[in-house]
Amino acid sequence: MNKKMTSQKKEKDKIILKKEIKNNKEGGVEKKEKKNRQTFQSVKGIYEVLPEEWTWREKFEAMVKGVAHFYDFKRIETGIIENADLFIRSVGEGTDIVKKEMFFLKSGGNHGDKWVLRPEGTASVARAYLQYGFSALPQPVKLFYLGPMFRHENPQAGRYRQLTTAGFEILGGENDAVYDAEVLQIAFRIMREAGLKDAIAEINSIGCRVCRPNLKKKLINYYSSKTKKICRDCQERLKQNPFRLLDCKNEMCQEIKKDAPVFLDGLCSACKHHFKNFLEYLDELKIPYEVNNNLVRGLDYYSRTVFEIFVPSSEQAKLAVAGGGRYDYLIETIGGRPTAGVGFGIGIERLVNIIREKALKPPVKPKNRIFFIHVGDVAKKKSLTVIEELRENGIAVRESLGKDSLQKQMKLADIEGVEWVLMFGQKEVYEESVIIKNMKTGIQETILLRKVTDELKRRMK
Ligand SMILES: [Zn+2]
Ligand SMILES: [Zn+2]
Repeated sequence: MNKKMTSQKKEKDKIILKKEIKNNKEGGVEKKEKKNRQTFQSVKGIYEVLPEEWTWREKFEAMVKGVAHFYDFKRIETGIIENADLFIRSVGEGTDIVKKEMFFLKSGGNHGDKWVLRPEGTASVARAYLQYGFSALPQPVKLFYLGPMFRHENPQAGRYRQLTTAGFEILGGENDAVYDAEVLQIAFRIMREAGLKDAIAEINSIGCRVCRPNLKKKLINYYSSKTKKICRDCQERLKQNPFRLLDCKNEMCQEIKKDAPVFLDGLCSACKHHFKNFLEYLDELKIPYEVNNNLVRGLDYYSRTVFEIFVPSSEQAKLAVAGGGRYDYLIETIGGRPTAGVGFGIGIERLVNIIREKALKPPVKPKNRIFFIHVGDVAKKKSLTVIEELRENGIAVRESLGKDSLQKQMKLADIEGVEWVLMFGQKEVYEESVIIKNMKTGIQETILLRKVTDELKRRMK
């Protein structure tokens, strides 16, 4: 096979491998296994990060952490296991998350425990704020977290049952729209740094305790006479969570939704003022947004500002990559004093997928520059300490000690595209030296082992 064909074949293999990975990642294909040769798949909908994705992911996560540091958000990692009641009280009994999507744990010990894998991060952070007495700190407290969340959703493209969220929360202090704008500013900073310049926010205000009940009444009145014309889910929503009527995606409900009462018409003067300030700050910061009258965000703890961020040009355009809002009653509902709060979460998997899909800023792989080749058993054994010493001196060395054939090792060095190969055989063991070969020029030299670190460092400059 000539060189061109080999490289074409390599490309092809890569593509096939990618496709296989993609297919398998659609979430644990449940196959009927043969009885005597059972194989296992990951649990359906659990997103697993494979090695080739980590380069992207680490870079993205490092950027998010950098932004958090820059805006002075202190990191917090709460437990992955929480009491179910925390979410029942804060997220709300009538929500999909609480009704259908929580993973309950069976613990071996105390049978009275009702534990769940956390479905989202905000309630946990609010719980920690109370538990650790953060209200005694200068307010507001700005917190950042990055970790897995679990929801028993129907797995489909872009939705996972285990997902990683980076969250930013501002708790305590004044109930000021400037903080609403600040969290959006942070979200857009992340979008920009990720190269997603066309990201846009959809925003809305869902009012407060004073004005929400009025709107709820209006909505119920409006929909009550039309129950036959709305989908089943909406009939359920009308009873349990009327605001969710506004974000129904079912086609049969769209016509009716058009004339439904909207939040913005019924806001009290304080909420109106808050929303007006929020829009002014967004304009000042030049953050791109659209007001979406139907945005409700579904969770009970939200009040006033809610928002979601979309990347329109991506394949997953209809899925929000980030979402959040204000939650001024959250701390109260879980036993604290009235405390203002606003924040948002970013779905790491979705965003990293979009970045890869767009092939934005492909991460630079650290180049492998040195490959270590051993020849013979004596050299193989001694190689262990030689390589370790190089690594301790900060020199990254590739090797394939499991392969004894010189040819196979050379081939690997070739594939890695290294600049230098170190060759170590029986003769070198006795002379305490190593042969260094420049792969570009083919020139070989022998260097004493005790000088090899300095020599390599000099050459790598
Ligand atoms: Zn209000
Ligand atoms: Zn509907």
